Amino acid sequence: SELANMMSVNVNQIISSCMSLGLFVSINQRLDAETLSIVAEEFGFKVEFVSADLHDSIDSEVDAEEDLEPRPPIVTVMGHVDHGKTSLLDHIRNTNVIAGEAGGITQHIGAYKVKLKSGRKITFLDTPGHEAFTAMRARGAQVTDVAIIIVAADDNVMPQTVEAINHATAAGVPIVFAINKIDKPGANPDRIKEELANMNFLVEEWGGKYQSQDISAKQGQGITDLLEKVLLEAEMLELKANPNRRAVGTIIESSLDKGRGYVATVLVENGTLNAGDIVLAGQHFGHIKAMFNERNQRIETAGPAEPVIILGLDGAPQAGDKFNVMENERDARNVANKREQLAREQGLRSQKHITLDEIGRRIAIGNFQELNLIIKGDVDGSIEALSDSLIKLSTDEIQVNIKHKAVGQISESDILLAAASEAIVVGFQVRPSLSARKLAEKEQIDIRLYSIIYDAINEVKAAMEGMLSPDI
Ligand code: GDP
Repeated sequence: SELANMMSVNVNQIISSCMSLGLFVSINQRLDAETLSIVAEEFGFKVEFVSADLHDSIDSEVDAEEDLEPRPPIVTVMGHVDHGKTSLLDHIRNTNVIAGEAGGITQHIGAYKVKLKSGRKITFLDTPGHEAFTAMRARGAQVTDVAIIIVAADDNVMPQTVEAINHATAAGVPIVFAINKIDKPGANPDRIKEELANMNFLVEEWGGKYQSQDISAKQGQGITDLLEKVLLEAEMLELKANPNRRAVGTIIESSLDKGRGYVATVLVENGTLNAGDIVLAGQHFGHIKAMFNERNQRIETAGPAEPVIILGLDGAPQAGDKFNVMENERDARNVANKREQLAREQGLRSQKHITLDEIGRRIAIGNFQELNLIIKGDVDGSIEALSDSLIKLSTDEIQVNIKHKAVGQISESDILLAAASEAIVVGFQVRPSLSARKLAEKEQIDIRLYSIIYDAINEVKAAMEGMLSPDI
């Protein structure tokens, strides 16, 4: 009915227009972006979306170059289970005490900052693993500047190592390799470097472009050098922020604490957050009653790349939600309410992702240039054959990209990556796990299963030619 009002047509006309698209809608139903465009077009209107989630419209402030100052990098550690992610983060947390500040970091709040002897700072996301990284990204949050990929030198490059590399690469985040456990008798860092080279990740000491550092997370060997390399990588990104503006950032964690109410760890990305500010985060808002750092010390302000705990929100936003400081409570409440209403109307459905059936339509609208795929299969040979053939389907108009390929069943991590990078999941002779299937349903990720390579290629080709009939 809102749309009918905007276009001054009878609401029944809209309803029947939707019906012709196979959608049976009620007067108060909210239409998704694509349906809106198609329906409006039928009435001679062109739809322009100002913002899908109200975030962009709130945070439209563009900083002038002269207001920008260098900020510390935000770093994530990823790697195969047991290769030493937690040990590395713990070691860094325990050894790097910010100069002039007493007391170590006693609590895990999802992120912490350290100051090196050189005086430079790094912020670590203390939620190791590519799942956390990609889950955030699937929610639209890209907070990591540099990824440390850790590989145990007494082991091999493992499936989750490859996954972590692909997740970082898909996000366009530079990688520094940490070859861990070099104190162990069976450790062989060169073997790891060779395996990485075979994957086209040639490390610097072998003439490649990837920095790597041999370390022992347990004994602390090489970690200072590792952090220097991370800083070097970060320097090239010329990370900057404007400390003199209202803060924006991302929710890292949130929970309900019996004594303190809702507690959220947030990472300030730009601007400065002050105690007393009115914060809007996802569907929640509130005055900051108090702020604490990772040492549980009360603080009044937090600048760019600083993680802080805030008290005072009226609920627990999700990890990956953006936060904004608002001018007044009324605006904050309005937007929070509107978001809640939107979420309720659309159910849990967060975002509509690409499906093979839909490609034809997207091409017709003219906004489809890249087909991203994640390929899982039963054996390496067929995965290679399939991905080569699929890449060859690329045309001048549409580039086919393989964001990740691996042997094994389709996992939750694959679905998260698909959600984060707008990809379709192709399974060859494999099926999704139960949890992956559930997540795919929730995130609306298209999973295509094949047992004949030829079928997979033909179907993707047909989709790219816009010839796939819906619902096969
Ligand atoms: P995560 O699963 O990647 O977080 O791995 P953890 O940090 O939990 O490490 C797994 C195991 O490897 C633990 O028993 C650690 O004590 C051990 N470990 C981690 N780093 C090193 C290291 O540098 N040397 C040795 N000898 N053991 C390590």
